[in-house]
Amino acid sequence: MNSATKKVALVTGASRGIGRAVAVALSSANSHLLINYRNREDEAQQTLAEIERNGGSGELCPFDVSDVSASAQAVAKILQSHKRIDILVNNAGIRQESLMVFMQPEQWTQVVATNLNSFFNVTQPVAKQMAFNRWGRIVTIASTSGQTGVTGQTNYSAAKAGVIGASKSLACELAKRNVTVNVLAPGFIETDMTADLSREQLLAQIPAGRLGKPEEVAAAAVFLCSDAAAYITGAVLNINGGVYT
Ligand code: NAP
Repeated sequence: MNSATKKVALVTGASRGIGRAVAVALSSANSHLLINYRNREDEAQQTLAEIERNGGSGELCPFDVSDVSASAQAVAKILQSHKRIDILVNNAGIRQESLMVFMQPEQWTQVVATNLNSFFNVTQPVAKQMAFNRWGRIVTIASTSGQTGVTGQTNYSAAKAGVIGASKSLACELAKRNVTVNVLAPGFIETDMTADLSREQLLAQIPAGRLGKPEEVAAAAVFLCSDAAAYITGAVLNINGGVYT
């Protein structure tokens, strides 16, 4: 099946972790995948290989989501070759922990630029054409940290709370155009991002007694991107094993 008969889906930060699982799952749900990443081309190639092994299709799409003009150029290029983007999953993100009193200005700005400004940088040009096409699905990966306080994460919490607010407002703006805008709020998921955290300390905080799997976040993303979820917009779905209820 070629890309003309499939949905066209852009997943940011799809070279690893949650983004890779979302890309693979959307591909299995009949989407052609635009696999965004920042610099780990080797990992992005593995995402593409997994998609192709499953009989799907995709292509690499490297750009820095924190850069407004690079993001606009990349979206314009996709629209030129594919004519539309039906599904956008804003997943790319970074964590840089520090107590606020010791935080360097660049730790604040880099985390906010990558996790929050990226929402504007990528979503704005994509949403414009979704509104024009009168169909679209936008899912953004926030975090439990955007819902409740976490020591050492003022920058990350601010950015993740920001995407929740931005998604709720955009959901109102696009609802009449059949474009839904939703948020997934994962707790602790097994990826590179949580690899440095003590398992013992994490497990003590998780009522379910285990970390989540990237595939468990991906399954929720596929549902929110489906026709079955047409009346769900402005929602925040927790995927956290009971860490925050
Ligand atoms: P990860 O394994 O560290 O992967 C991060 C991904 O984001 C990589 O693909 C990376 O690309 C990409 N990326 C980072 N900065 C980028 C930029 N400026 N432009 C484009 N791509 C960029 O992270 P993860 O754990 O899968 O997390 C995915 C999302 O879920 C993030 O938004 C994170 O905040 C959120 N989240 C994660 C957890 C968790 O427990 N893991 C919990 C809650 C929320 P490269 O490979 O090229 O570096």
